[in-house]
Amino acid sequence: MKRITILTLLSLVFLSSCGTSTPTPPPTATLLPTPTITPTSTLPPSTVTPAATPTFTPPPRIDRVLIVTFDGLRPDAIAAAEMDNVIALMQSGAYTLTAQTIMPSVTLPAHTSMLLGTCPSKHIVRWNEYVPENGYAIGTDIFDLAHGAGLQTVMITGKQKLSQITEPASLDFFAFVDETDKIEDNYSLEQLAIQQVRQGFNVMFLHFPEGDLAGHEYGWMSQRQLLAYAYDDLEFGRVLEALKQTGMYESTMIIVTSDHGGHDTTHGHNQPEDMTIPWIISGPRVKPGQLSEQVYVTDTAATAAFVLGLPLQPEWDGAPVLEAFGLPITAHSKPCIN
Ligand SMILES: [Zn+2]
Repeated sequence: MKRITILTLLSLVFLSSCGTSTPTPPPTATLLPTPTITPTSTLPPSTVTPAATPTFTPPPRIDRVLIVTFDGLRPDAIAAAEMDNVIALMQSGAYTLTAQTIMPSVTLPAHTSMLLGTCPSKHIVRWNEYVPENGYAIGTDIFDLAHGAGLQTVMITGKQKLSQITEPASLDFFAFVDETDKIEDNYSLEQLAIQQVRQGFNVMFLHFPEGDLAGHEYGWMSQRQLLAYAYDDLEFGRVLEALKQTGMYESTMIIVTSDHGGHDTTHGHNQPEDMTIPWIISGPRVKPGQLSEQVYVTDTAATAAFVLGLPLQPEWDGAPVLEAFGLPITAHSKPCIN
């Protein structure tokens, strides 16, 4: 509990220094006493010397978080596939190419851990098919939190099974596009995402499935798979362009990651090729550079909550990646053992 309290306070300090105003402060946050700010929990003091005419530049706002996953993306595929938009975010943001997913290293359990912040033993989603009779993951996910705080939540996925991560009531918009059915859908994933960008959102999860599908058919790191990732990256670029055109880019936190890697034509095993994933964050107040901290897939939900000022959940195994903001690492995630 102490860890959570400290994190909540850190989050408040972070937000107050960000000047974020759009997200409704969560009830638990407003009930807390004014945090005692210690030197180690604040951003470094400004080194600007007083000018003759004092001016005030408001700190950049963080109004929304976009979480993008490229299914099955091994970190070494980013450069091999020349994913220029992802590479640009690595250069402008903080990143690690040695983040770790959970076992089983498969799509639905891993995405569930990503968006609920917990290990499979808690969220119980160990199945990897669309099984509607199983219901939804157990626990508080990032959509539950954001929607409960009055924020606009969006999930756009290329695999129907990901709809079992959160209850429909926690999503303001959900879309599933099956691009494997050989039928021309009316909208592509990125077109739907661009529509939602234009309508305004606070939390959007966008999932590109094609790389994983190509991996199962042609092999991990095969030319066909790399082409799929390159194509996904182009589509992702159009979403980023929409954020820029609407003037939202500068106030958007972008997290790019994956659910698992792969080897041969499969994944799901406890070996580095399957377990290692990229984790990239770019946006306001991010300190660019390579992260030294070990990042886990469960850290994504906690980081998204942290930047939006939403309360971190006591049951979460993940922690905010504070190093990405140049903050001292006072929170540590608990690696999943099952
Ligand atoms: Zn997957």
